[in-house]
Amino acid sequence: MRYSKLFGKTIKEAPKDEVAANAKLLLRGGFIDKLMAGSYTLLHLGRRVEQKIEQIIREEMNTTGAQEVLMPLLHPKEIWNETGRWDSAREVMYQFKKNDKEYALSFTHEEIVMDLVRKHISSYKDLPVKIYHFSTKFRDEKRVKSGILRGREFLMKDLYSVHVSEEDMTKYYQEVIEAYKRIFKRMELDAILTQAAGGVFTKGSTHEFQVIVDSGEDEIVYCPGGDFSANAEVSSVKEGKQCDLGHGPLKKAKAIEVGNIFPLGTYYSEKMKALFTDHSGQKKPAWFASYGIGLTRAVGAIVEVHHDDKGIVWPESVAPYSVHLIEIRNPKSEIRNSADEVYARLQKEGIEVLYDDREDISAGEKFADADLIGIPIRLVVSEKTQDKIEWKKRNEQKTQLLSVDAIVKRF
Ligand code: ATP
Ligand code: MG
Repeated sequence: MRYSKLFGKTIKEAPKDEVAANAKLLLRGGFIDKLMAGSYTLLHLGRRVEQKIEQIIREEMNTTGAQEVLMPLLHPKEIWNETGRWDSAREVMYQFKKNDKEYALSFTHEEIVMDLVRKHISSYKDLPVKIYHFSTKFRDEKRVKSGILRGREFLMKDLYSVHVSEEDMTKYYQEVIEAYKRIFKRMELDAILTQAAGGVFTKGSTHEFQVIVDSGEDEIVYCPGGDFSANAEVSSVKEGKQCDLGHGPLKKAKAIEVGNIFPLGTYYSEKMKALFTDHSGQKKPAWFASYGIGLTRAVGAIVEVHHDDKGIVWPESVAPYSVHLIEIRNPKSEIRNSADEVYARLQKEGIEVLYDDREDISAGEKFADADLIGIPIRLVVSEKTQDKIEWKKRNEQKTQLLSVDAIVKRF
């Protein structure tokens, strides 16, 4: 991508009303644009990061045998009335009337999945079902001061699994925990499996994945040895208590909830008559669980964790491009051609390059923009580098002069 052609460039100052680091950096870097509080456009750079995250999640979901679908976002009131959530979740749902009929915009999909199951499943032979999708959720959030960590409209991956027994559900639930650990590790988020706070979903024991960072809205009490963590909002376990396994006193820290998983049991299937016939021909309610990861929140969480005073420092796995190629132009020299050649060569090798080919922009400005945008490798072609190219990692000071062949080899 030629930066001169990219829609959505860096800007000098973030809007005054933004306080969160993720929002300031993503806005300044040209990753997002703000429409109103809690509502952002993912510009091309932001969308690329989100798509990288999406692909990591997709791969790990598929590994558990789950199948990707896409469910509607416009829901009739009747389906929410079947579980009572039209009223009990009224505060969070966007509900409205059109031509005498009432609707809600999706804030989650349990009811929709139960409707699918009761229509498409009849026997134990049809189970388990594991389906997921990536789509928008709408929630009337009261406080939206954390940038894309908390939107009124945001992207989520939600997975739903349906089983013949509690045992089967629990077994898959554990598999998903392992898949989630791999997902967050791949995007370089150190997510801690945490006993959850309650919510509109269930009263039972659910789990959150929490990333410790000062800007987090949640608080967890956790063991530094890694064997215990609970959301401080509900837990009776207090900071300072000695860990049962001898790892010392429990600590308390601010954290961002990046994922939440719910072993829902038969609550929804009983209410919605999502039944199957077992071996003996008896009709039984299916065992049901749901599992969410906030995609746009993950983008924000990565920025909260991976940045410095100059800008974002993307992990390689989610960076919008692998290489930020900068040309420093001397109007009298032939530099333009060789930078174009490097760009063409890297692209031919399948390397994702953002090429800052802008004219009339100083070297200093280009370097500052590269630091702000945060692509892992910076390459500079200038008169000074002659037939070589300067290589520098975003998170290191050291530079090296390399040939284009040597650079290609490194990938
Ligand atoms: P929170 O406690 O932060 O309000 P939640 O528990 O209501 O979130 P879930 O219903 O568990 O959220 O949603 C699953 C995942 O979706 C969350 O773990 C989070 O990553 C993401 N998510 C939830 N609400 C938002 C939001 N308003 N903006 C962006 N992501 C969100
Ligand atoms: Mg949650």
